[in-house]
Amino acid sequence: MTISNRFKLPLNDQHLRAPLVQAGSLSASREYAVFPGFCDVHVHFREPGFSYKETFASGTAAAARGGYTAVCTMPNLSPVPDSAPHLAVQEALIEENAAIHVYPYGAITVGERGEVLSDMEALAPRIAAFSDDGRGVQSDDMMREAMMAAKRLGKLIAAHCEDNRLLRGGYIHDGAYARAHGHLGICSESDWGQIRRDLELVRQTGCAYHVCHVSTKESVELIRQAKREGLDVTCETAPHYLTLDETFLQEDGRFKMNPPLRSPEDREALIEGLLDGTVDVIATDHAPHSAEEKAKGLKGSAFGVVGLETAFPVLYTKLVLPGILSLDKLIDLLVWNPRRRFSIPLDEGDCSIWDLDSEYEIDPNEFLTKGRATPFAGMTVRGRCMATFCGGKPVYRAEP
Ligand SMILES: [Zn+2]
Repeated sequence: MTISNRFKLPLNDQHLRAPLVQAGSLSASREYAVFPGFCDVHVHFREPGFSYKETFASGTAAAARGGYTAVCTMPNLSPVPDSAPHLAVQEALIEENAAIHVYPYGAITVGERGEVLSDMEALAPRIAAFSDDGRGVQSDDMMREAMMAAKRLGKLIAAHCEDNRLLRGGYIHDGAYARAHGHLGICSESDWGQIRRDLELVRQTGCAYHVCHVSTKESVELIRQAKREGLDVTCETAPHYLTLDETFLQEDGRFKMNPPLRSPEDREALIEGLLDGTVDVIATDHAPHSAEEKAKGLKGSAFGVVGLETAFPVLYTKLVLPGILSLDKLIDLLVWNPRRRFSIPLDEGDCSIWDLDSEYEIDPNEFLTKGRATPFAGMTVRGRCMATFCGGKPVYRAEP
């Protein structure tokens, strides 16, 4: 593997190497791949409100270590960015503490409570898109109104789809593992049922619509049909839904996220969706919690796992090396498609350098995120980020 020239790099090779070789972290005898800055449209950096879980400093450091130079932060915060003053609290923290580009979401409804629309007009020019991530918008009328407003403002709605009527206290996939171990399951329909509802609303309103963290085979099929019909629809899935399923579950909070790890058939449908273009984007849904919050097993732990520092190595090892997905296609999913859909520019000097031959075991103790819960702990992967640059400035360097 040589330094890849396939990607149009804003900096020349000399420029990139100089500071690294000086730092002693890049060996002249090894060959490296350079990728344009990854873009994650779905992360939770927990500020303002929950700094004990993550901060802009720790979150963006973790992102840089994963090769990311741009992220979009979800609005389940305190205060929720549902008005200009509430958003300003987050903007000030970003300005002061972020090492890479951060684009906040604006909430769809006040407090993400699903009852009253946020001040969408004031938020629109300052946000990546609208989302009530963390919960579904339950009312059809509320979602229709939100879509009409988003359409008028030229903004995307990124929907967390979840029908609360179907949850029934579930916390892992309603499948073989839940039945065998006496757990309460979350059925797939709670997820795809609301996607189906939203697609009908997109048909009525013409809103640009993006589905967050797609996890079921039915969702993939609904989105495939919607695209065929010509609706303005895209979607994302996450590395854990593509490389794990319920057969990997252990009685440990690091396997608990929402939506949950589904069946092997769901996982296969998601990979098919990647290959035929139904799934446009891979986003991590990086959702850190404290050690205590994740120490209560599958039932009692908080929903969410970290993902920024493992996404590329896991996807490269599990999908590219076995020949399931080409490296070019993976870069489309991590860089170009999310940037195009969310209008996020690739700045000059936004890139990362990888040693694709380096093999190692994922060790959460090495993470820069405050979160430690990952289903990938202990997995042997290939691909180590050696350095990341944002606007030409080094934002991460591997320890020599
Ligand atoms: Zn979500």
